[in-house]
Amino acid sequence: MKMPDPDQSILARREEIADRLRLIVPGEGVIISSQELQVYESDGLTAYRQPPLLAVLPENTQQVSEILKYCHTEGVKVVPRGSGTSLSGGALPLADAILLCMGKFNQILDVDYDNRCSVVQPGVTNLGITKAVEGDGFYYAPDPSSQIACSIGGNVAENAGGVHCLKYGLTTNNLLGIEMVLIDGTVLRFGGKHFDGAGYDLLGLMTGSEGLLGVVTEVTVRILPKPETARALLLGFSTSEEGGACVAAIISEGIIPGGMEMMDKPAIQAAEAFVNAGYPLDVDALLIVELDGPQAEVDYLIERVSDIAKKSGAVTSRISQNEEERQLFWAGRKAAFPAVGRLTPDYYCMDGTIPRNKLPLVLKRMREMSAHYGLGVANVFHAGDGNLHPLIMYDANNPGELEKAEDFGSDILRLCVEVGGVLTGEHGVGVEKRDLMPEMFTDVDLKQQLRVKCAFDAKALLNPGKVFPELHRCAELGRMHIHKGKLPFPDIPRF
Ligand SMILES: Cc1cc2nc3c(=O)[nH]c(=O)nc-3n(C[C@H](O)[C@H](O)[C@H](O)COP(=O)(O)OP(=O)(O)OC[C@H]3O[C@@H](n4cnc5c(N)ncnc54)[C@H](O)[C@@H]3O)c2cc1C
Repeated sequence: MKMPDPDQSILARREEIADRLRLIVPGEGVIISSQELQVYESDGLTAYRQPPLLAVLPENTQQVSEILKYCHTEGVKVVPRGSGTSLSGGALPLADAILLCMGKFNQILDVDYDNRCSVVQPGVTNLGITKAVEGDGFYYAPDPSSQIACSIGGNVAENAGGVHCLKYGLTTNNLLGIEMVLIDGTVLRFGGKHFDGAGYDLLGLMTGSEGLLGVVTEVTVRILPKPETARALLLGFSTSEEGGACVAAIISEGIIPGGMEMMDKPAIQAAEAFVNAGYPLDVDALLIVELDGPQAEVDYLIERVSDIAKKSGAVTSRISQNEEERQLFWAGRKAAFPAVGRLTPDYYCMDGTIPRNKLPLVLKRMREMSAHYGLGVANVFHAGDGNLHPLIMYDANNPGELEKAEDFGSDILRLCVEVGGVLTGEHGVGVEKRDLMPEMFTDVDLKQQLRVKCAFDAKALLNPGKVFPELHRCAELGRMHIHKGKLPFPDIPRF
């Protein structure tokens, strides 16, 4: 994976840049020692590592604005970072970029039950938002498996999803407003406590912008009353085809479960060995279907889903009898990533999304690829959304095995696009899928997307090397005036 070549003149100015930033963020807010920077050198995509030029930890919007204004004037690149759990390398540092760490933005600013929303700083964890309101019977619906650690700012930047997003929507559907700082230091607000706003949907544009358009400094999200009741079904199938058919049948009956997740045999076995959730080990596919809402509705829907499962060929079926059992059904699924981590020194998690009815075909082709590459793969997926998370198992200590895992992963994502799906469901493009973007978008599409980037960050200083396989000069995209034949920003890298 090729990243932009570091700007030697910036590397040479490291001490000077640190001194200048210390004037903005005094005390321990600027980290420059190589030992302390080690903790920042990768995010959740640990296959790639790079210490940043330095790390800076601002505490308020004013400081973020001054840092960005300084970087804009001096041509210093900036990589924003929340909790560093990105699985696509979105927060991977660059040698010549400062890492802007938002962890100190950790306050809940306002809980407004009348308007059913919370205003929080971007470094608050996803679960922290729920924790602050659950005593009053409320919660924040999008629930990435990393929710104990990932920040809401990172969720906005990646448009994060989770088990309950099938029914309640992704981050974008639960976001009401943000405060954001542009690279020149301008502070903007999009949305608020109200629904929708006049003009372009800039809030939608910022959601999923992967730190390339601005830095989020405040977030307003919807909070929902907790459903009266929730029960889960654990359904085992002899083949993934039958499991996939059951998913399609449930949706086509007009039932939208609170969550609908599937695991294949390697994932079931890994999860069961890890948490003893009581999963059947002799099935090829396991489906967890959760129904939530008023008691009478849930009881009725449990019956209907049980019937559909029987007709779809379920060979085992269990209904959670109490809250403890429901949590146990989920415990295996939620621990599936670390469970697979016990089987292999390293794994590479993919995130393609496919039309639901292509699931059996894609699983079959994945098994063939697994044999071709000689690498194991375990599958967990948000079945209702068609969002796959194949976990490719490899050992980075074996020369060439990381590259083999990457090629295998690329083949899976190409397959997702080939069957009518997309490269990413919720983890973002980052560096991981950057070079596959042309598989999905034409050159014209990509140039149009880059024009949006240029409108916000013409010098390409915010998170360069991520998302776009090539950084065109904004001038080439018709955004800039070329004066006397001289290109502005001749140093913008192409890689
Ligand atoms: C075990 C595990 C399970 C996971 N499960 C899920 C899952 O179920 N669903 C899911 O969607 N994801 C999942 N993820 C991926 C990850 O947790 C999400 O992408 C999350 O949204 C990243 O948040 P973060 O705070 O860690 O952001 P980071 O990793 O720090 O950053 C991610 C991106 O956001 C940008 N960014 C961060 N903060 C800001 C800000 N304040 N302003 C502007 N840009 C910013 C960064 O530049 C980067 O591009 C999982 C990760 C792990 C390790």
